[in-house]
Amino acid sequence: MGRLDGKVALISGGARGQGAAEAKLFAREGAKVVLGDVLDDEGKKVEAEIQASGGEATSMHLDVTREVDWRRAVETAATRYGKLDVLVNNAGIVIRKGIEETSEADWDRIMAVNAKGVFLGTKAAIPAMRQAGGGSIINISSTAGLVGSPYGSAAYTATKGAVRLFTKVTAIQHAKDHIRCNSVHPGPIETAMLQEAWADPAMRAERLGRIPLGRIGTPDDIAYGVLYLASDESSFVTGAELVIDGGATAQ
Ligand code: NAD
Repeated sequence: MGRLDGKVALISGGARGQGAAEAKLFAREGAKVVLGDVLDDEGKKVEAEIQASGGEATSMHLDVTREVDWRRAVETAATRYGKLDVLVNNAGIVIRKGIEETSEADWDRIMAVNAKGVFLGTKAAIPAMRQAGGGSIINISSTAGLVGSPYGSAAYTATKGAVRLFTKVTAIQHAKDHIRCNSVHPGPIETAMLQEAWADPAMRAERLGRIPLGRIGTPDDIAYGVLYLASDESSFVTGAELVIDGGATAQ
């Protein structure tokens, strides 16, 4: 028996990295998965991999900054699989610039993907989840949504802080609809997003030294936390913050 048997999940940014790991794990645990991303070819590969191992998945184009794309994604879940139970707002981008180097266009872009994208996804999912009798929304923030860092960009940090508190209001206002909403706060995770930032070996060693467990996380480390929040095992958990960071923010 799978931990998500009978559930239908929509995952943004599901074409690679953490989103792809979540899509594969969810499918292994019995969910039917719609994965949306701007990377169409990579998304199709994840879809094919899930189907080849006997799972159920549909990959589709989703730009999280476009409301019309979100409507289409939720409709796809409903028409293809009959309903929507789980939304993972995972898509995200990073910029690595100091405040003085960050342009207005940089700020607007990262806010559009990381913060507005979560709002639009949540807005699109709520009516479908209400119709399904409830649901679980999992918003991928970051340890940057909890604490400041000498390495992080202020703009990225602002988007992840926005996601953290948007999550709590969603949880409070939609508990009556049996919709739970929680945020996940990954530390450094080995994906394309991190590889660029940690390319310098000295910087990598310095940053690893700040993680008590002494390693970078894997996409599966996050996917298992998201799986818990998606499943009925977490039925009394809402408005919470799940930190998965090797102990980095415990210090
Ligand atoms: P990633 O770059 O591998 O994956 C991000 C995915 O989001 C990509 O598939 C990308 O195409 C997609 N995406 C970007 N813009 C999009 C848009 N407008 N519409 C739809 N999809 C879009 O990185 P990842 O590490 O898997 O990131 C997943 C989430 O985890 C992000 O929200 C990120 O901010 C967060 N996070 C990552 C780390 C880390 O160290 N990797 C740490 C903390 C939080």
